[in-house]
Amino acid sequence: MSKLILNSELLNKLMGGREPSTDESYQIYQDAEKDPSELCKAAEFLRNENKGRKVTYSRKVFFNLINLCRDTCSYCTYKSEPTQTKISMMSKYDIQNLVEIGRKYKCTEALFVTGERPEQKYQEARTWLKQNGFASTAEYLAHASEIALTAGLFPHTNAGNLTKAEMNELKKTNVSLGLMLENSVERLSEKGMPHEFAPSKNPKARIKVLENAGELGIPMTTGLLIGIGESPFELIDSIYAIRDIHKKFGNIQELILQNFQPKPDTAMKNNQGPHERYFKTLVALTRIIMPKMNIQIPPNLSPISYSGFLSVGINDWGGISPITPDYVNPEFPWPSIESVEKNCANAGFELRARFPVYPEFLSYVNSDLKSRVMEMADFDGLVKGEYLK
Ligand code: SF4
Repeated sequence: MSKLILNSELLNKLMGGREPSTDESYQIYQDAEKDPSELCKAAEFLRNENKGRKVTYSRKVFFNLINLCRDTCSYCTYKSEPTQTKISMMSKYDIQNLVEIGRKYKCTEALFVTGERPEQKYQEARTWLKQNGFASTAEYLAHASEIALTAGLFPHTNAGNLTKAEMNELKKTNVSLGLMLENSVERLSEKGMPHEFAPSKNPKARIKVLENAGELGIPMTTGLLIGIGESPFELIDSIYAIRDIHKKFGNIQELILQNFQPKPDTAMKNNQGPHERYFKTLVALTRIIMPKMNIQIPPNLSPISYSGFLSVGINDWGGISPITPDYVNPEFPWPSIESVEKNCANAGFELRARFPVYPEFLSYVNSDLKSRVMEMADFDGLVKGEYLK
């Protein structure tokens, strides 16, 4: 290991790979409030030691399968009501069509997203399921995943709090699943807080799903939403909650740090997003707490400054689609893959396309999925360059 000598005795002690205690992380955050430069240097050092100078993304198609949702989060603009023009209820034909377009554009990921159990609240959702021949959204997701997989895309589903049995079914076709923890403190579910009307966002419920996925050996993408009313210490506790799940089950393949952006048609439209300095400090601290974790920020949510996050510890941009919008953040188009590549190169990094399962988690997926990925993978487990031409 190369050496980095900092003025901070505490950070110096952690450069050898030891993980900080919660109290030490609080202390690092408080020191960084005065001057974040040492923390940022330390995060950059650990990133380079553990991840080298590669940065990855997943070339994806976003399937907005159904955006009706049983819950209401105060910041969400994804959720639709049946009468709104943004409603999406994809038919099997729509899915097949979009899969083919995705193949033409050399995508490798089929991201399936839905609201939380829409059939529990909406007759429209129950009718839609019945017309397509399914009793639940989870059943439909299994079928949609099969369509995508058969055509050569790798499914990754993010459909809220799935049961263990539902995840076990999706495991057959999905190389990984996604569920944002958002935050681990119950305070954000109290009256007047963003998750008051979203029981599925109760952290205990979300942690249980992530643990169930761990028991099933499913690679999971999870993450935190930064700037929704949490304190920095609650956010640090949330990073530790994810670290603890990963320590126990080893199945967290990626941690997304997403900066809240106020949306015009939501209850939180007048709230400010987090200051970039606060956001960067927490990204850097995440790298110190989990030196080997794959850490992602979405580049479209920091459109001017995303490449600056390469020097505070991230190693991934998540899914970027050349053909479909980010339906969760439609006001923030993804940058072109070419411009991300250029910005990475200018910062001294090589951009590489990955699958929705990280190479080090390929051993978790079943042999059929594994051999399909291997056919398209290079020695590093990333997408072969020739496939993208
Ligand atoms: S964030 Fe998810 S759970 Fe919350 S309202 Fe939107 S779709 Fe529903």
